[in-house]
Amino acid sequence: MGRRKRKVIRVVKKRLPKVYTCPNCGYVAVRVVVKKGKVTVSCGRCGEKKEYEFEKGLDPIDYYNRFVDDVSKGA
Ligand SMILES: [Zn+2]
Repeated sequence: MGRRKRKVIRVVKKRLPKVYTCPNCGYVAVRVVVKKGKVTVSCGRCGEKKEYEFEKGLDPIDYYNRFVDDVSKGA
C-alpha cells in the first residue's frame, strides 16, 4: 500500500474555433464557423464575411484559404 500511481489524465480538447489573420484588415480575428451545411468565414474586426457550402474532408483552414483568395480578388 501507499504506492501512488500517477494517472495520466488526458485532456480532451474541444475543437475551438481557430482564429486566423484577416486578409482585409490584417488582424487575427477571422473565424471559421460550420453550421448546418454552411461554412461562414468572417472577420470580427472589419466585418468581412464569406459563406461557403460545407464539403466533407475540408478543414477550417481550407475555407480560410478560400476566404483569403476571394477577399484578395475583391470578390
Ligand atoms: Zn478583417
